Amino acid sequence: MILDIISIGDELLIGQTLNTNAHWIAKEMDALGLRIRQHISISDNKEAILTALQDALNHSDVVAITGGLGPTNDDLTMPVLNEYFGGKLIKDEQVYADIEEFVSRRGSDMNENNKRQAIVPDNCRVIRNKNGTAPGLWFEKDNKVVVSMPGVPHEMKKMMEDAVIPWLKEKYEFPAIVHQMVQTQGVPESKLAEMLSDWENNLPTTIKLAYLPSPGRVKLRLSSIGKDRSEVLQNIQVEVDKLKKIIPQYIYATENKKIEEVVGELLKQQNATLATAESCTGGYIAHLVTSISGSSDYFKGSVVSYANEVKVNELGVKESDLIKYGAVSQAVVEQMALGVLQKMNTDYAVATSGVAGPTGGTDEKPVGTVWIAVADKNGVEAKLHHFGNDRALNIERSAVAALGMLVKRVSIKLE
Ligand code: AMP
Ligand code: MG
Repeated sequence: MILDIISIGDELLIGQTLNTNAHWIAKEMDALGLRIRQHISISDNKEAILTALQDALNHSDVVAITGGLGPTNDDLTMPVLNEYFGGKLIKDEQVYADIEEFVSRRGSDMNENNKRQAIVPDNCRVIRNKNGTAPGLWFEKDNKVVVSMPGVPHEMKKMMEDAVIPWLKEKYEFPAIVHQMVQTQGVPESKLAEMLSDWENNLPTTIKLAYLPSPGRVKLRLSSIGKDRSEVLQNIQVEVDKLKKIIPQYIYATENKKIEEVVGELLKQQNATLATAESCTGGYIAHLVTSISGSSDYFKGSVVSYANEVKVNELGVKESDLIKYGAVSQAVVEQMALGVLQKMNTDYAVATSGVAGPTGGTDEKPVGTVWIAVADKNGVEAKLHHFGNDRALNIERSAVAALGMLVKRVSIKLE
């Protein structure tokens, strides 16, 4: 079953309103089992609406439209759909009563615009609006469905949940759609694709693969569709198991979880605690870790050791090493990690020291040079990274790399 989404409204085209409706509808309809062919945003204009509708019906089984259902002259969707489907406009008593009730709940009387909204095409199924005045319209033709809903997001969502989704389920039989995430950290997309090329070439044709990169991470999405949900899940699991053998060192989750969430779960399993010593990340790792509810169980605190004197006085970094190697060095980052581990008496510690940029780089240590260390009672390990020129991205990638190193170190303990 194929779906087109048409968003109508000049405000969408000029960037005044973000098209959240298409995003929400797509997610819901994907979960229901429809394949989304296209989202299109168009103007409140008769020609544009007719052209988009005809194109959608030429290719899809279901067309979901939002916007342009208001009572004013710039809202054209209802009359255009009525003309397209060759209906007559009639007063719907149920809709009239709904609007009257809605308006009176707000302490007003029915005005002419309110009354006009009870006039609907006689050849559609009306969707009652519990959160507003414009009713939704459900048309059927040649076993295809065109459903038109208001643009106001909470009105549209209520209609989808109460009417559109149940009615679609009554009318069609849907397949099971499964999207499985495999999340990796510490390997660029191009290298990952190279490592996975044999596996990818041998994927069953029923499984589609997507690479979704973000700073420091690449999500692999395996999607499949089939009649029987458990069979689809099983087929995908076979491929996930293969991936776990090919790239075990890069996978940190096979669910849609944040890396800081995975860190928290691993630490909790071990009843272990964490502290951070942050120079170039300025507390961002601590922020990510504490954005997870329940982090007080395992996170003790952070020393944001931006200045050298703080590295020395709070973390016990040797002044002579700062002079000899510089703040962005293996020796210093290791001492930072060990220093905070001891100071806060934790099981694990991570430390960062780098040149976030855009200024401050040298020939020897250009912008993007970052040392990251992880320490525990057994010792400390450090890794050098060469990120790019963008300050915000460097901070993000440093934090993610630090959390990735921590996941590995804690996982090894658990094995
Ligand atoms: P309408 O149903 O066209 O009268 O739209 C009413 C209001 O809903 C608009 O002023 C927008 O603020 C909002 N809206 C319309 N379309 C969308 C959309 N696709 N996504 C999010 N908000 C929307
Ligand atoms: Mg509008």
